[in-house]
Amino acid sequence: MIRSVRGVHDILPAEAGKWRRVEHAAREVFEAYGYEEIRLPLFERTELFARGIGEATDIVQKEMYTFEDRSGESVTLRPEATAGLLRAYIEHGLHVLPKPVKLYTLGPMFRYERPQAGRYRQFHQLDVEALGDEHAALDAEVIAMLVELFRRLGLADRLTVEVNSLGDEATACRPRYRAELVRYLGANAARLCEECRERAERNPLRVLDCKRPECRPVLDGAPALGAFLCADCTTHFARTREYLDALGVRHLVSPRLVRGLDYYVRTTFELTTTELGAQNAVAGGGRYDGLIKLLGGPPDPGIGFAVGVERVVQLLPDAGPAAAGERRPRVFLVPLGEAALARVLPVATALRARGVVVEVGHGDRKLGRELERAGKLGVSRAVIVGDAELERGEALVKEMQSGAQRPVKLAGLVEELLALGGPA
Ligand SMILES: [Zn+2]
Ligand SMILES: [Zn+2]
Repeated sequence: MIRSVRGVHDILPAEAGKWRRVEHAAREVFEAYGYEEIRLPLFERTELFARGIGEATDIVQKEMYTFEDRSGESVTLRPEATAGLLRAYIEHGLHVLPKPVKLYTLGPMFRYERPQAGRYRQFHQLDVEALGDEHAALDAEVIAMLVELFRRLGLADRLTVEVNSLGDEATACRPRYRAELVRYLGANAARLCEECRERAERNPLRVLDCKRPECRPVLDGAPALGAFLCADCTTHFARTREYLDALGVRHLVSPRLVRGLDYYVRTTFELTTTELGAQNAVAGGGRYDGLIKLLGGPPDPGIGFAVGVERVVQLLPDAGPAAAGERRPRVFLVPLGEAALARVLPVATALRARGVVVEVGHGDRKLGRELERAGKLGVSRAVIVGDAELERGEALVKEMQSGAQRPVKLAGLVEELLALGGPA
């Protein structure tokens, strides 16, 4: 037997309904806020991610699926969606559209991570980006939309909205903070884990993410970014929070919330839960005002988020038996013999065209076995056509629940079955 590759997973039919629920809710909510879908390739030139995510990040250094294609070009399976989406925004000149340009996409992402519970090498995200607008009201709207998605899924009460401001690169606030943090981490290096010591050099803000207990005392004592924010960043953050209040979004300021990627500035946010162990963020995002320019586009600001679909699905309750049976066949056509099969096939086609879920036997089994199968499938009605019925131009319609059966003219069978509707 050939098994699946380590760290990937199948979404079996029993689970697929939950996935569809999440995707359906996402489309409804995002589109209500004026977002349009964009579909993107699963792989891009490697340099796009190196530049767009940052050479110094764990993702680019250790986690990308990178390979040379047959022409020798280096390509990478996307580890996240933002870089590819911005590439498309620039390449197709979408920045000439009225701003903010609001886009969403969904699909698989790929990272070579150590497999552990709830973490996969092929995982799925809903990704949203609003481009070309830096107003704090947009930041609040984006966060409110994310919360609305979880409200729609019945999960809002189980999640906490955490927000922070990371300052910006253009004014001195972020560089000044970074320098101070590097100094502090250097002075306390001996009390940090090896990973933190290494990160302190190449990606110091990320050190604050470390979850190891031995690092907590040092990290809890680290200088907080808030104290370093410039006047503009302070105002932007304060206004974002005012708009969140106006939108009725309860939120918590988390001074240590920094996100893993280099390009985030100003507003950053996460939706967290205590129900998934250490993997506590279900969704997260932030503002990345310099990134479009860095990728060769216009100096447009941007803000967005990604939702981890596997984690959302984990939080969703199992659908009841009714929901699981939504697409169960309603009618089972049971032809007995070749001639009967030829006669019922157009009936199946006509019913399916009207939205009825129909199962058809192949005509080569005994009636008893077919009825047994109909029972297992949970259909409400079996329609039996044998040689005797064919001769009379009739079919036998059998109610599976009661066992009652009666003849119906083949000529009017489709209309009769449609009129009968769902389970009696
Ligand atoms: Zn650490
Ligand atoms: Zn600033």
